[in-house]
Amino acid sequence: MTDYDYEEMAAQLDRYAEVPDDVLSEVVARDGLCFWAFDRADFPQLSGETTPDRELAFRMCAGCPVIDECRELDLRTAGSDALGVWGALPDTDRRALCPVWLHRRQGGDAR
Ligand code: SF4
Repeated sequence: MTDYDYEEMAAQLDRYAEVPDDVLSEVVARDGLCFWAFDRADFPQLSGETTPDRELAFRMCAGCPVIDECRELDLRTAGSDALGVWGALPDTDRRALCPVWLHRRQGGDAR
């Protein structure tokens, strides 16, 4: 499995740091593919009932215009309790990304 650069992923989300939760939530619910293009309930892996993988996450979210917003929102709301697929990442990657993202938000390496 190729290593993902979680530092780079976290840095890419810095621009959302000041965006309120409700705004992010509204944007994701309005424009996210899985909110109108298909029914997540048809895919048990997406809710974490079975373990999703990167390929499934990549395929499911391909073309979604709010991947970063979705990823940011999930990190804020689920954090290390992440399950299923959000933001084009399986829960394993979001759990690994979470401490890196949190460190930046707490003043770690935020630029
Ligand atoms: S990034 Fe994926 S999980 Fe998030 S709204 Fe888009 S399609 Fe849904």
